[in-house]
Amino acid sequence: MAVDSIMTTYNRLSVAFDHGEGSWLYDTDGNKYLDALSGIAVCGLGHAHPAVTQAICEQAAKVIHTSNLYTIPLQQQLADKLTQISGMDNVFFGNSGAEANEAAIKLARRYGNTVRKVENPAIIVMENSFHGRTMATLSATGNRAVQAGFEPLVSGFVRAPFDDINAIRTIAENNPNIVAVMVEPIQGESGIQIPADDYLNQLREVCDQNEWLLILDEVQTGNARSGKYFAYQHNGIMPDVVTTAKGLGNGMPIGACLARGKAASVLGAGTHGSTYGGNPLSCAAALAVVNTIESEQLCERATELGNKIVAGFRERLEHADYVKEVRNKGMLIAIELSEAGTELAVLAKVKGILLNVTGGGKVIRLLPPLTMTDDEAELLVNTLSAIIKVYAADERSPESEAADPGNERRSS
Ligand SMILES: *Cc1c(COP(=O)(O)O)cnc(C)c1O
Repeated sequence: MAVDSIMTTYNRLSVAFDHGEGSWLYDTDGNKYLDALSGIAVCGLGHAHPAVTQAICEQAAKVIHTSNLYTIPLQQQLADKLTQISGMDNVFFGNSGAEANEAAIKLARRYGNTVRKVENPAIIVMENSFHGRTMATLSATGNRAVQAGFEPLVSGFVRAPFDDINAIRTIAENNPNIVAVMVEPIQGESGIQIPADDYLNQLREVCDQNEWLLILDEVQTGNARSGKYFAYQHNGIMPDVVTTAKGLGNGMPIGACLARGKAASVLGAGTHGSTYGGNPLSCAAALAVVNTIESEQLCERATELGNKIVAGFRERLEHADYVKEVRNKGMLIAIELSEAGTELAVLAKVKGILLNVTGGGKVIRLLPPLTMTDDEAELLVNTLSAIIKVYAADERSPESEAADPGNERRSS
């Protein structure tokens, strides 16, 4: 494949997909793959969901884009829907997770400068976090590999260990410049790292005591993936700012930064913008997604199916000492290995399963469509368990054949 005209910012697997349906993707040779990644937590409704397809086609035939210089009724409808679901007050729309987080970072800076009147406002961010690839969001990200070579980084971020509330309290005592904490409720890119049950509640308390904004990055955890529309809804708390993107458009680029209370009035007219953000086409798609999450009860389904998948893996991989832990919150699923197993993404692809290995190569990350059927989930558990067992038994020869995993992959 001629790839030289594309910058090599990605290491890609050598497969190209022609079309998809539900939990399945079909490559250009007609082979089918069970998609346990959903384009990295994006296609939560699966591929070619009729409600989304219809919304996009109908809207594309009417008007795609008008700009934010005019009223956009679909954007208003989507904002009404999202604020009603989340309990937040208002929304700024962009086109990606990084842009949603940029809006949140700008909001926190402006809150610091104009409301708190702090001289050099700073935001607490976590080790091993991921917030995006723009200059501000990569500076907020807790991964040197993402930052290396892009110095000077954006200043005004103070790093803290994740899931360590005492570290946050210590910073509160020592740093009067802090105006916000920005955190993923569950760290996604670093391998589905789930904090203590009451971590967000304690963060909320510390933020209240210090007049800090609590900013939750739900780019990956939002839109029903964790088993609630937003992951903070498991904790019964409210953030001041929450961002989301990945699952919101089912593949149509859209990001949202929602704000509440004192945070909702910080960004006034002329302070921030986006030409495309919340245009009629992306909002039509996102409205179809949000309505489908409700009508198909996908929050409940994510909890039920995620727990079922994890029970299946635990049963089959119980005695595999290569597997350190299987964990999940809804359909954010991790199989943590005791050693790096990056090749497993390639081996699984050969066997017709799409997944991703993250967290330093040690975590198999599964983000299947929330619409996956029980039979597909069983196929995923059986096939992947067999692949992992063979890999664990004979790590040094990745070419070795997995026992018949019972997959249905074939040419058509
Ligand atoms: C993917 C991700 C981002 C970045 O989103 P993009 O759409 O790639 O800019 C930010 N935060 C989290 C938690 C993510 O998972």
